[in-house]
Amino acid sequence: MKYQKIRGTADILPNEGEKWSLIENKLKEILMHYYYQEARLPIFEQFELFARGVGETSDIVSKEMYDFYDKGERHLALRPEGTAGMVRAYVENKLYGPEHHKPQKYFYIGPMFRFERPQNGRMRQFHQLGVEVFGSKNAAVDAEVMTLAYVMCQSLGLKDLKLYINSLGSNEDRIQYRQALIDFLTPHFAELSKDSQERLHKNPLRVLDSKDPQDQKIVAAAPNILDYLSEESAQHFGQVQEILQALNIPYEIVPSMVRGLDYYNDTIFELVTTCDILGAGSTICGGGRYDQLVEEVGGPETPAFGFAMGLERLMILLDEADDYFANLHKLDAYVITIGQAVNAEAAKVTKALRDSGWKVEREFIGRKPGSQFKSADKLNASYVFTMGENELETGIVNMKHLETGHEVPVKLEDIYNFKLNLN
Ligand code: ATP
Ligand code: MG
Repeated sequence: MKYQKIRGTADILPNEGEKWSLIENKLKEILMHYYYQEARLPIFEQFELFARGVGETSDIVSKEMYDFYDKGERHLALRPEGTAGMVRAYVENKLYGPEHHKPQKYFYIGPMFRFERPQNGRMRQFHQLGVEVFGSKNAAVDAEVMTLAYVMCQSLGLKDLKLYINSLGSNEDRIQYRQALIDFLTPHFAELSKDSQERLHKNPLRVLDSKDPQDQKIVAAAPNILDYLSEESAQHFGQVQEILQALNIPYEIVPSMVRGLDYYNDTIFELVTTCDILGAGSTICGGGRYDQLVEEVGGPETPAFGFAMGLERLMILLDEADDYFANLHKLDAYVITIGQAVNAEAAKVTKALRDSGWKVEREFIGRKPGSQFKSADKLNASYVFTMGENELETGIVNMKHLETGHEVPVKLEDIYNFKLNLN
């Protein structure tokens, strides 16, 4: 029997794993500066939470959900996204209570599951970093969250970034627009793709972001959602833009962008890379305002705004940027050992250097000095310490800078007293 990983999953092996940590830590640091707090929530929930929360007509629920019955006949699902669970936890734990600072600003990082056709940047188990803000309708929240997403990508050195924004207006605005869209599309019904024909009455807005070229031609002349915004929604969207401008965050308004989930209203956005390695899945991050979801899940009236960022897609882009991870595995020092007698002293030197903040590896398998030097080189060590019996006797060890070949004698005592500075 030969075991294989499940299609659409990936092993993030050592080496890759370090890259993930590096990125996650960097992003967490930014999140901390923006005062977002981390939540860690269950990976499976009641099926109904997603069906109602994310919406029955969304692709995620209607086609992509990993749902199952457990041994107690409960209908459960592996989470396809993080917002529904976060809202459930918010309501269940009464995080809206007066003891909590408002608005509440949370983030999470973890695996999500969707039954999709696997390809580059599209997996069945993948990871998202998500952000949710509860309790404010202020346009400054919309702008802050979009800025945060933008700054996170920027801080990783991603170029070719585009921030696309749009407004879906209020529920009432959307009902009117929906009808206008159906009226416009119905005469073209026969020319629409099968997917779009199905969507026309269930979720006509989704026809707007169809990837079918024929659909796109028809949709190009469709009514513009921004012409259907109420005064309040138009004003809100105007303010969001004003703040983005004040912050010098470049954006483009894309009236045909609608996003795949049902719970959004007013501002929605996507961060997209114009670099073509991700193919059709060039969206790194998507999100928007969802002012009704908390109530739908049984909580008090609570406006909210959030996004989810796909970490696999981020990693693909960073792997492409050649030198992004260049220094990740670089060692400060490698400790070479000659002879079994120095085994313990080499351990002491290694630990003392590590305790002083150096990143150090040592020889463990007793190879010839030449092979050990080759390892030090391969591991990109800045310095090599050579420990032999002579060093034991004299208490002085040779420290060699590999790049320049420059060598200096160092007292073991100085290493043990942490007097050796790294520069
Ligand atoms: P797409 O149109 O690419 O399917 P989506 O609208 O389904 O995206 P969201 O539900 O908004 O995506 O999820 C936010 C982000 O999560 C996406 O922009 C993407 O970076 C990432 N993502 C979504 N689905 C997958 C997947 N199957 N594999 C890897 N990343 C994904
Ligand atoms: Mg999708």
